[in-house]
Amino acid sequence: MGSHRPTRVHIREVGPRDGFQNEPEQIATDDKIRLINSLGRAGFTRIEVASFVRPDVIPQLSDGVAVLAGIDVPASVSLMVLIPNSKGLDNALKVRDRFHEAAIFVSASETHNRKNVNRTVSETMADNDVMARRITSEGLRCAAVIATSFGCPYEGKVGLDRVLDLAEQFAEAGAVEVGFGDTTGMANPAYAAEFFAAALERLPQIEVTAHFHNTRGQGLANAYAALEVGCTSFESSFGELGGCPVPKGSTGNIATEDLVSMFHEMGVDTGLSLPGVIEAAREAQSVLGRKLTSHSIIAGPINWSPHADVVAAH
Ligand code: ZN
Repeated sequence: MGSHRPTRVHIREVGPRDGFQNEPEQIATDDKIRLINSLGRAGFTRIEVASFVRPDVIPQLSDGVAVLAGIDVPASVSLMVLIPNSKGLDNALKVRDRFHEAAIFVSASETHNRKNVNRTVSETMADNDVMARRITSEGLRCAAVIATSFGCPYEGKVGLDRVLDLAEQFAEAGAVEVGFGDTTGMANPAYAAEFFAAALERLPQIEVTAHFHNTRGQGLANAYAALEVGCTSFESSFGELGGCPVPKGSTGNIATEDLVSMFHEMGVDTGLSLPGVIEAAREAQSVLGRKLTSHSIIAGPINWSPHADVVAAH
């Protein structure tokens, strides 16, 4: 298994979308912009910054257009927006020059999809097919996300083949990346390894992304398991912000700074500055006015001398 471990991975920071949408309070637009700019300085090349959901459904993200207009990050940063439906895509395309990637999504289980977007999986996939083609024809990068890929809080087990069938449908429609979300933290490292080995084998034409939540404290172990079978693309959230609107209490993406710390210590390059990520997470902590739960916010980077040059190089 170890022979598949990559030496370089991509991490997309999803805190400004997956994280901020789950905050009970509305974060000021200027604060969001400041935090995204800090993430840009930390070296991210991929940041999910906004969602074009209906403002009455997720008011926390209703300022997406203003956020996109205010962001000042290096040109190397690919900005992603989440698109729930064709109406959301219409709205996003009005500011088409402000972002680079659009993500469309479905839940692998019928019940979660129904509760999340009030449609069946096949209705959602029919709409996704049309949207993927529109996104691609606009010259934007189309990514897809499959929620509840590792289990559903309402239905229990979700079949691996069912999830990979959905991923193939997305790929056929033009998505060049599919992210597999452990929306409510139901994966374990053994299944994560089995899952990503199968996904990488069956989907060689697209980028396969791991999106783990730390709901039950196994997020990093799952990321490690995916890495060891060759996964090179991950999503995480600074400060361990995030969760899922349904069901309530589905807390926290894996913390970006903890993921980066683990990868760097293993000799896996992320292109990121760990101190820069920690600094951004600490800024988020002061904006939100409460202690965030990542370990590295508290402990800081490891500073032992054999690895000091590795840390400095990032
Ligand atoms: Zn998530």
